[in-house]
Amino acid sequence: MTNITFRNLGREWDLAHDESVEAVRRVLASSVFVLGAEVSSFETEFAGFCTTRYSVGVGSGLAALELALRSLEIGRGDEVIVPAYTFVATWLAVAAVGATPIGADVDLGTGNLDPDAAAAAISPRTAAIVPVHLFGIPAPMDELGSLAVKHGLAVVEDAAQAHGARIRGRSVGTLGDAAAFSFYPTKNLGAAGDAGAVTTDRADVAQRVRQYRSYGATEPGVFDSYGTNSRLDEVQAAILRVRLSHLPELTERRRRIADRYSAGLGDLLSVPAVPNGHSPVWHIYNVRVPCRDRLSAHLATRGIETASYYRLLPADQAVLRHVPRTSTPSADELSRTALALPCHPAMEQAVDRIVDEIGAFFRGTP
Ligand SMILES: *Cc1c(COP(=O)(O)O)cnc(C)c1O
Repeated sequence: MTNITFRNLGREWDLAHDESVEAVRRVLASSVFVLGAEVSSFETEFAGFCTTRYSVGVGSGLAALELALRSLEIGRGDEVIVPAYTFVATWLAVAAVGATPIGADVDLGTGNLDPDAAAAAISPRTAAIVPVHLFGIPAPMDELGSLAVKHGLAVVEDAAQAHGARIRGRSVGTLGDAAAFSFYPTKNLGAAGDAGAVTTDRADVAQRVRQYRSYGATEPGVFDSYGTNSRLDEVQAAILRVRLSHLPELTERRRRIADRYSAGLGDLLSVPAVPNGHSPVWHIYNVRVPCRDRLSAHLATRGIETASYYRLLPADQAVLRHVPRTSTPSADELSRTALALPCHPAMEQAVDRIVDEIGAFFRGTP
């Protein structure tokens, strides 16, 4: 019986091997490595994919979040509402610009920011909300958007896990003032190294992110604002163009896997509760089960690798101990019960075996 790994990046890369090698060759032959034709072409193509007016390539997803927040003038003295259950980068970006992340509780069925909890977390200092489209399921942007309008808050989507996810046909990346994408190798759209992008419909935001990613230059040799060095490079952009062209098909495969899991496991444990009209892209297929650690140990003995996100919440990380800890019972429960099952485009045939093994575990007939 072959092992089923949580991911299989090797198989995914095999799907576009020759095209990727050709893309790298093209960049080497051009000897243009930073902010050249590949980056601008990728930016145009990724904006087209997201249906946003602008896309600006940067060095990572964390940089995309941070530069998006800075471009909206979020900083010292501001509070930013973030989901209590997310990857630590969401919180670190807020802290990096000098603002205070305020954790709000999440919906148990999706892990996404709960609009009522977000509303309750608003204070006179609140300046922005950063919803995360967690595991590839779009956050409830209609409700969060209304809240932001009512209180005059900026909205930055953390779309690091959700390339191509939609709400009633509208793509993530278009649903706030700006959005941050990561192209870390394991993300649904992954580079061969670190990379990220900010998408936005706002010309002022796009222009500022372009400026900030390259030392804050307003024109060559003139530096009169914040700046850093966080540019998407030509090699990554060329590779991302290849991989973007395959993404719709790979997302369809993830959807078929998720559908088979949900149909096969819904009676045994809590499967993701996708809101009506939301189309996830299943970066991670995450279930909830009280005996999480026993089930994952059982699956490991059967050669099936699983993962548990996020065992230690951002608010409980020592690096964020200066941030006020709020009460977030659902986030706490998810940190104890969430189990992520293998869900990657190269594993379609293995789903049935995983469903069978989980069934056997619950029947006690291993
Ligand atoms: C991966 C990720 C990030 C950070 O992206 P990097 O490219 O690794 O910097 C931010 N937020 C979420 C939710 C992520 O999953």
